[in-house]
Amino acid sequence: MRPDLAELDLGELEAALEARGFERFHARQLYRWIQKRGVTDFERMTDLPRSMRERLPSAFVLNTPQVVADHRSLDGTRKLMLELADGRRIEAVFIPDTPSMTFCISTQVGCAMACGFCLTGKMGLVRHLTAGEIVGQVRVLAAATGLLESPFNIVLMGMGEPLHNYEHTMKALRMLHAEQGLAVSPRRVTLSTVGIVPGLERLAREPLMPNLAVSLHATTDEQRSAVVPPNRKYPLAAILDACRRFPLRKRSRITFEYVLLEGVNDTPEDARRLAKLLSGIKSKVNLIPLNPSPGIPYRRPSDERVDRFVQILADRHLTVMVRKSRGRDIRAACGQLIVEGGTKKSAAQQMALLMGG
Ligand code: SF4
Repeated sequence: MRPDLAELDLGELEAALEARGFERFHARQLYRWIQKRGVTDFERMTDLPRSMRERLPSAFVLNTPQVVADHRSLDGTRKLMLELADGRRIEAVFIPDTPSMTFCISTQVGCAMACGFCLTGKMGLVRHLTAGEIVGQVRVLAAATGLLESPFNIVLMGMGEPLHNYEHTMKALRMLHAEQGLAVSPRRVTLSTVGIVPGLERLAREPLMPNLAVSLHATTDEQRSAVVPPNRKYPLAAILDACRRFPLRKRSRITFEYVLLEGVNDTPEDARRLAKLLSGIKSKVNLIPLNPSPGIPYRRPSDERVDRFVQILADRHLTVMVRKSRGRDIRAACGQLIVEGGTKKSAAQQMALLMGG
């Protein structure tokens, strides 16, 4: 088995080179070519000795997700469908001007959390992504959008629950942070979770701490268990308790995401309960009026209902944002990412699924 260079952090790369008879000091150059410049052709790595460039392909592979579809929304959002080395497909989204450039990336193929408003949840979990596949999405998006040399934000809000794939997700963040790579500051990364409490507790001890977003979506356990099934194991009180204990950087706050579902969780009582639940937590609330999709049994509330909800929270001194839906015309908006799992369907069938709704 030849190791995949894309999976190795700098320390692992040094050890792997040495173990195969290369000089370990070339690891920094190699890491820079792969992770910073997005180069996958060894011949183009011109500061490496020619003999090394010739020998590398017999010692290693270098996998990068391949773009198999690139959908552009009228609002500038781009959704890339990416094929992994085993033929599985995932989606990664570029959202411009939010006001920064933002990449929304996946951490799993599918998702086991089964949230009731989410198309990815309908797929079930196909498999975890590796650290290299998570980082690979960023490289591919940065190259496709001309941002390899520019700052961008990353949100782990694509397919999957990042804390369900903890090891690979955190390794990916360390690889992205490496100075020889894209040097992405953890302040520019937001990890979004449904609230896997042991994962939150582990995250609280990480030296590299991303921003935290918690998908709440309901204000009672009964309501939330119906919409976000993991709530049966990790109920609201346990999640909010973990949030209260979460070590925040100066001036940072936890974002609470709340998908508004008409008649389910968007009443004035819900707004009042939400404000009460969040008291004592440094927080901001991100309201997301549902992006309706076929097969999703919920409706988007009217603007009046959304405004009323916002007003109740604002009156209680909460910072509230209503997320503008981006890329709805290409199904790149929240909860709309879906690729039929594995190779069970042909590429044409997968595209039909993606395009046809
Ligand atoms: S909303 Fe997020 S956690 Fe829930 S099913 Fe969809 S991808 Fe998974």
